[in-house]
Order: sequence, then C-alpha cells, then structure tokens
Amino acid sequence: MDVRKNIALVAHDNRKKDLIDWIEYNVELLVEHKLTCTGTTGRLVEEAIRGKVPAAKMPADFAIRKLKSGPLGGDQQMGALITEGEIDLIIFFWDPMQPQPHDVDVKALLRIAVVYNIPMACSRSTADFMISSPLMQM
Ligand code: PGA
Repeated sequence: MDVRKNIALVAHDNRKKDLIDWIEYNVELLVEHKLTCTGTTGRLVEEAIRGKVPAAKMPADFAIRKLKSGPLGGDQQMGALITEGEIDLIIFFWDPMQPQPHDVDVKALLRIAVVYNIPMACSRSTADFMISSPLMQM
C-alpha cells in the first residue's frame, strides 16, 4: 500500500455534519491523500477542505473523485472500486437511526469492504484511531 492512501468517504444525511467536523479537524492530513466520495458527501467535503486550506498550501494535484449520490448508485460504485483495489480505507458514517432508500446498497458496501479486508470506520472515534495509526505511514 502506498503512503498516499486512497480514502473513501461516505456519510448519510444525518451523519454528514459529523463527517464534515471530522474532515475539518483532520484537513491537513487528508489533503495528502487521494479522496473518493459519494456525490453529495463529496461536494460537502470539497467545500469544507477548500474553506480550510488556503490555495497556496493545497497540494497541486489535490482532487476529490466524486461518484454518484448514494441512493443513485454511488455505494455500488464504491463497492466496485473496492473490488478493483482502488480503495485502501473507508470512512463510512452510516445512519444507525433511520432506514435508507438504498439500504440494500449500504449492506452490500459494508459486506464487500469486509470481504476485501478494507479498514472501515463507521464512527468518529474509530476514524480517529484509524487515521492516527502508524500503519498510515506504511
Ligand atoms: P451521498 O450518498 O454522499 O450522495 O449523500 C451517501 C449515501 O447515502 O450512501
């Protein structure tokens, strides 16, 4: 695995604020990696990062890969990228309190991440442990 990781970011609507808070807290570290997001999450993540990091400090090749919105197939696209070896770790803030129209896709993404042994954080505390792990440097 490259030191520069392919990090997937996905949050359901009720968890987007949590994810954006976490992104803002870890922004300097995150811009050093390659980010892939589902559609709406990606738009918000990009706004948050560009709002925090001055253009002069932004790595020249920084870009966020945005997939379809989750309910429109974004979770399935993310699962496909995992099978292709294009995702190293996933931060997936899914909503434990509300059913989603695309629950079957959510379950499939959770499943395929485990099948491919992808480190996956579904809460902020796990995301903190993951991103501060010495394994991030390997
Ligand atoms: P979104 O999708 O980023 O487009 O909101 C996330 C999801 O519902 O899985």
